[in-house]
Parts: sequence; C-alpha cells; structure tokens
Amino acid sequence: MTGNGKKPQLAMYWGAGCGGCEISVLNIGEHILTVDAVFDIAFFPCIADFKIADVEGYPDGFIDVCLFNGAIRNSENEEMARLLRKKSKVMVAFGSCAYEGCIPALSNLTSRRATMETVYLDNPSIDNPDGIIPQLLTEVGEGELEIPSFYNTVKSLDQVVDVDYFLPGCPPEPHQIWAVLQVVVAALTEGAPLPPAGSVVGAGTLAVCEECPLEKDVKTIARFYRPYEITPEPSLCLLEQGLMCMGPATRSGCGALCPQVGMGCRGCYGPIEGVEDQGARMLTAIASVLEVSGKPGDDEAELDRRVQEAVNTIVDPAGTFYRFSMAKSMLRRVRINGGGS
Ligand code: SF4
Ligand code: SF4
Ligand code: SF4
Repeated sequence: MTGNGKKPQLAMYWGAGCGGCEISVLNIGEHILTVDAVFDIAFFPCIADFKIADVEGYPDGFIDVCLFNGAIRNSENEEMARLLRKKSKVMVAFGSCAYEGCIPALSNLTSRRATMETVYLDNPSIDNPDGIIPQLLTEVGEGELEIPSFYNTVKSLDQVVDVDYFLPGCPPEPHQIWAVLQVVVAALTEGAPLPPAGSVVGAGTLAVCEECPLEKDVKTIARFYRPYEITPEPSLCLLEQGLMCMGPATRSGCGALCPQVGMGCRGCYGPIEGVEDQGARMLTAIASVLEVSGKPGDDEAELDRRVQEAVNTIVDPAGTFYRFSMAKSMLRRVRINGGGS
C-alpha cells in the first residue's frame, strides 16, 4: 500500500512497437500474481478494456508507474506519451523501441513518403489499383474521419517527454522486469530509495562480451560471413570467426543469450554505459579484428583495398550497427534530398 492506504497504480501502453514488450511482462511467470496483488491496473489496453477517457479523467500524477513501450512514430503515440507523462509519477521507457527507437526507427534511413509508397503502392502483396494512400482526413457517411499523422522521423520516448528510467532490451528479459518492479514497489510501499532519475535499470554497465563464455583468441579475420555460410566453432568468439556480433558495443545484462546459441548479439540492450553511439563503438571493435592492420612499410593502397574488401562483406552496415539505436545515434536520421516529407 502507498502512504494513502491505496494500492499503487500501474499502467502499460504501447506506441510504435510489436507487442513483444507486453508479452515479456506477462512472461514474468508466477510473479505476475504478485504484480496483480501489489498494483491496481490503471491502464493496460493489451489485457483489459481501457479507454483514453479513463486516463484523461485521472488527476495528474495518479498513475504511480507507467511502463511505456514502443517508439514515437505518429501523432497518436506522441499524444499518449504526453498524456501518460502528465498522469504518471514514474515514467519508464520500457524496451528498446521506447529507449532508443529500435526497429521502427530504422525507417529514419528513408522518408515518410518512401515508406508509404512501399507499403501501399510498391508492395507485391497489395491490391490497390486506385493507388490510395491513407489521408489525415476522410469524408465518410458519418462525417469526417481523422487518423493519426505519420511522422517523417521516429523518436525515442525521451525525445518527446521526460523519462525517469530506461529499461533496455528487445524485449527486456522477464527477470529484469521483475527486479525493476520490485524496486519500484519497495519505494512505493516502504519508502525505499529509487535509482537516480535518468538511470538505465535492469541491465549491466559493461559489454555483452564481459558476460559471454565464448573464448576470445585474438584472432583476425579477412571477411565476414552470413550465419548460414559457416558452422561456427561452438566455444570460440563468433566475431573472431567472421560472424557479426555486436557484443563489444552492447550493454550487458541478458547473460549473452544469443552468442551462447551461436547467433551473434544483435545489440538489443543498446550502447554500453557512457558510450553515445553504438555503431561507432562497433566500428572500433571491428577495426581491431580485421586482418588489415598495417605495419611500417606496408603498401597503403593495398591496405585500403583489403579494408574495403572486408567491409564489403558486411551486409546492410547501417541496419546492422543501428538496428536498435538509430533514433538515439549520432546519425538519428538520413538527410533526404528535398526535405524527405
Ligand atoms: S522493444 Fe522489441 S519487443 Fe518491445 S515493442 Fe519494440 S520491437 Fe517489440
Ligand atoms: S564478440 Fe560476441 S561472441 Fe565474441 S566474446 Fe563478444 S559477445 Fe561473445
Ligand atoms: S545477446 Fe545481444 S541481441 Fe541477444 S538478448 Fe543479449 S543484448 Fe540482445
């Protein structure tokens, strides 16, 4: 119970996301019963029938904890982020989409117009002979229909409203969700201290490599391979076998889940503590494993050629290095000739 004798109020909402973050909360096992016992649910459209009017009717700060997942991709996402911020004491950017844009923010590599054209016009599975693209306002029999406006640039939650805590992961691991909820519950019910505002919670501070059991042998590589091209040696570092692994540039906390099953880390926990740009950090790591570091007297042109050859084997570099962190990266979005609207 909180100081006023009421159960703390919990909200969860999705912006632009896939729904996996909701599933990860429901996946905390038997602890979900504790969540139910400790919290009253104030808003959680995925599991119960709430309306926006319910939230609008709450006094400011009524919701004790809001877990907001999903990026800000359209005006509805932004409107809900602002409303829930106003109504919540603690706002958590939950999961990679809210934290740093994640997959939705990869569309910052193109424009709103190009995205619409791909989805509604140039897609082989679409039957749209009249070439209709969604319009903000449409006249229908019942009157004027308005849909959310689609933004050109996808943003993280904290690029729109103040955020108290960031919980990384795509999705966050259930045990970490539970650990964070426990901290919040202890603070609300027993007055225990909360982490400093702005903290990344439910994750480590080092790199995934630090918790990865695969052995590094300081080997160098001449090229990269797609996962289907080679069968990796199970106990050896994947990066040193030529498989892309974002472990050196990614925050620890998941227990190196992916490398342990032979799949390179994709980077879903975001950059390591203190690192601004995950992709730039990864480039440094890659430079250290390429078989092209020059010695005095080496032919510069030949070194350049070998570097280029190795780099050419990285498929979709921007999508690889910024799969999760595009919105918060130094790139943030590409510049489009003519404004990209
Ligand atoms: S962080 Fe991952 S799991 Fe969560 S909504 Fe985004 S894409 Fe889905
Ligand atoms: S690069 Fe990947 S496989 Fe190698 S040690 Fe780091 S996390 Fe493990
Ligand atoms: S290994 Fe990398 S991609 Fe896999 S869960 Fe951990 S941080 Fe995410």
